[in-house]
This record gives sequence, structure tokens and C-alpha cells, in this order.
Amino acid sequence: MGQITRSEKDSVEKRSSAALDFGAAWEYAPAPEATDHIRIDPKYELFIGGKWRAPRAGKYFQTISPSTEQVLAEVAEAGAEDVDDAVKAARQAYDNVWSKMRGAERAKYIFRISRAIQEKARELAIVESMDGGKPIKESRDVDVPLAAAHFFYHAGWADKLDYAFQGRPHRPLGVAGQIIPWNFPLLMAAWKIAPALACGNTVVLKPAETTPLTALLLAQIIEECELPPGVVNILTGAGATGAAIASHPDVDKIAFTGSTGVGKRIQKSIAGTTKRLTLELGGKAANIVFGDASLDQAVEGIVRGIYFNQGHVCCAGSRLLVEESVHDVIVRKLKDRMMTLRLGDPLDKNTDVGAINSKMQLGKIRELVEAGEQEGAERYSAPVKLPEKGYWFPPTFFTGAGQSCRIAREEIFGPVLTIMTFRTPDEAIEKANNTMYGLSAGIWTDKGSKIFHMATRLKAGVIWGNTYNKFDPSSPFGGYKESGFGREGGRQGLLAYTDVE
Ligand code: ADP
Repeated sequence: MGQITRSEKDSVEKRSSAALDFGAAWEYAPAPEATDHIRIDPKYELFIGGKWRAPRAGKYFQTISPSTEQVLAEVAEAGAEDVDDAVKAARQAYDNVWSKMRGAERAKYIFRISRAIQEKARELAIVESMDGGKPIKESRDVDVPLAAAHFFYHAGWADKLDYAFQGRPHRPLGVAGQIIPWNFPLLMAAWKIAPALACGNTVVLKPAETTPLTALLLAQIIEECELPPGVVNILTGAGATGAAIASHPDVDKIAFTGSTGVGKRIQKSIAGTTKRLTLELGGKAANIVFGDASLDQAVEGIVRGIYFNQGHVCCAGSRLLVEESVHDVIVRKLKDRMMTLRLGDPLDKNTDVGAINSKMQLGKIRELVEAGEQEGAERYSAPVKLPEKGYWFPPTFFTGAGQSCRIAREEIFGPVLTIMTFRTPDEAIEKANNTMYGLSAGIWTDKGSKIFHMATRLKAGVIWGNTYNKFDPSSPFGGYKESGFGREGGRQGLLAYTDVE
């Protein structure tokens, strides 16, 4: 099992050099999405109680495109008073309208939102790629369709909650404060808003400060869908706005996705209150490749797990655990595949790897990569030409890193993979679980029984078998250990927004 024959080695080497020639001789013609039909307003206000309102303190911040460093819009910065207004609007909407409405009626509104997302899919995908830097292939084929799917899925639950909880009495929690990160701006908004509304809660949501635009477009959609005022309120701002939402005394539930550090801070800030909390935090997933796996398929999954989306995924397969016997062949095949990755304009339909979301994030990635080099691991970066403007980092991997290295322990949140080896399934499990995180893992093997055996022993909330980074609204997502608690999606996700007796 897992032995590499001489001829296989030769063929990998030949393919590697062929890929180099191919790269040199063949350039894709640019195929960018047109942006002339996209409307980004110069300035966005806060969406409170169904109306667009200026922030009371009159403060605004800029959102820029990380691929061009161009300012896209000015966005309102909500202060504590605006948060208070939004919570009051959400409370009124909850008490007077939404919690009293029949599930079948709520479902109609939620269906309407999902349809409107589908109608505006192209615009949403383009704005997502402009504001966040992710390739249009991802925003068009993953983020936006999944966002619509989450609203569709939860619309279906709104009038069937009695069946979700086996007939047990249940009620909504009240006002949900929701704080989301920049890696899947629209999708995270959908993950949070759709189940909250389906279960009868009202919402105050804050998108991340570097990617506010698609949440604001979603607010426009919600307005067009004529949701009762105050059912969904969207507040833009940075950490202080998030902290004001989390600590507001009239918020009943906090749902947070972001860094483990901020998650812990929120947990402390609400200690001693009756607020309910779900946290979806960092990850350091192990993608485990056995020698009996289809290696080409595994390499494709590795690339999907860490390089597509620039590694800006909390469940990114950032640690690759390879059975020792196939280490060299995997490394060569991976280099081979990395030669063909196209990095550049996120709006280009051929782009695989887009821009790093912000200057700050780029700084964090560089710091950890330098730490990896200093700790003696061997670095390989794909020989890609980085655009002059914007924030970019080449697809990179490290070999020869010990488990104690920072690159093997800390979340990098960039296109950087740390490759380590194992000899037995037990060693793979021990290494995979040797982390403070526990969000996701991947297993690549020809044997279904091995997947089950491994999956039951891996301490990770989501485990993919012979695939990676696949999502579905009916499948619960969430972590173990310091990756957080609570689930989003599926029937389990409804529990995060419901009080069940
Ligand atoms: P990331 O490292 O993914 O940027 P953060 O945890 O810094 O993660 O940010 C995730 C979200 O949390 C963003 O919307 C951010 O504005 C918000 N945030 C940052 N600091 C705080 C805080 N102290 N309290 C509440 N929300 C915060």
C-alpha cells in the first residue's frame, strides 16, 4: 500500500516540467466580469427599523477593494446610541409582529429573500469579489448560491418547527445580535439571519468592517421584500460596534463568527447574564491523506482546502498530514498543480487565488511565514507574479515543520499549508487532534471503513471524506474545543435560536 513505483516518480517529474513549459508558453486571455451594470453607492447609512439612517455621531469609514486599493464607498460607523436604536427597533418588531406571526407567513418573507438573492446573484457576486478580494468563481459558484440556499432551507422550517423538536414546546429567544467576519460576508449573514427569522427572532447584524457591502445590499433586498420594519437591522462598524451589540442588555442571544480572541472577549462580556451564545471561531484543520487514496483527487482537495479563497476559511485544511510513504509524490504533485494556479484579478473568471482581504491580514500571514522559516521549516511558494497594487500572497507550503512550530499550531488564515507526515492511523489521529482547535478535518482513503474509524476519533465538528470544503444548509457546521460551540445549519442549527422545553 502506498508504495511509489519508479515509473510513477518519473511521470510526476515529467509532468512537473511539462507544467512549467505550459505555464511559460500559454497565458489565459483576461476574462473579467463587467462591472458597468453594478451600482455601488458612494455612501451607505445604517439600516434601522426599516429605514436608512445616518449614524448619530456622524462618523463614516471607507471600504476598499483589496485587489486594487481603490475606495469603493463610505460606510456609516454605528456607535452605542445607534446600537441602542437598532435593538429597540428589533424588540418592537419582535414583540408586536414577528414573534406573533404564523410560521407559514414568516416563511413567505424568507422565501422572498432567497428568490431576490437569486435574481441579484450576479451583482452580489461581483460586489463580494470587489469588496473582499475573493475570486468571482468562488463568490459566483459558492457564496451567493449557498446564501440563497440557506434562506430557502430555513424558509422550509419556519412552519415545521413542531416537527423539528419532536413536538416539544418551543419559543423564539427574542432579539439576536449577530457579528460576522470578512471571509464569507454574504454567506455568513445568510447563515445567521435565515435560522433566526425562521425560528421567530428579530435581528441586529454587524458585518465586518473590511467587507460591509454585500450585507448592505442584503439590507436593500430585505427592504424590497417588505419585511416588517425592525425585523432585520444592519449596522456597519468595527470592533466597538460589535462590542456594543454583544453587551447591550436587551439582546437575548449573541451569534458570533470570528477570531478565537474576540470570541473569548464576548464570552467574558456576557458572563453572568442570561444571554444565549453561539461561537464559531478559528481552526487548524488536518487534511489527512493515506497512501491508498486517489492521490490526484487528494491533491485537488488539498488545493481546494487551502489555496482557493486564499486560505480565508476557518475550516481551511491548513495542516496536511500525509502518510510517509506517499509524502514525496504528494509534494511533487502539489507543486505540479500549484504551477497551474492563476492568481490575480478577483473579477477574472479564470482566477483561482484572489487578493488577501486586508493589509492587516497580509501582515499577519507574512509574520507567521517568517516564523516558519526561522523555526527551520522549508518553504515553497508557487512562482506566481504578484500584481503591484493590492494585497497578495503566493500559494505556499512548508515541509519539515515540527508539531510545535507556530505554522503548525496557529491559524494563519492565508494560502499557507504546513505538511507533516504520519505512519499509522493512530499517529494521524494523535497529530490531527493535537491542537486547541477542532472545527474541521479531511480524510482521503480508498477505504470507507477507514473514514468511519478515523471520523469517530477525530475531535472536529465537520469531517469530509474524499472531498473538502463542501457545504450544505442541511448539514450542521460548528466546532469542538476553542473552535467554539453551537451549530449552524440543519435541524441542530435551529436549536441556537429556540428555547425548547
Ligand atoms: P477576524 O480575525 O476574522 O477579522 P475578528 O474576530 O477580529 O476576526 O472579527 C470578526 C468580527 O468581530 C468583525 O465583525 C469585527 O468587527 C468584530 N469584532 C472585533 N472586535 C470585537 C469585539 N471586541 N466585540 C465584538 N465584536 C468584535
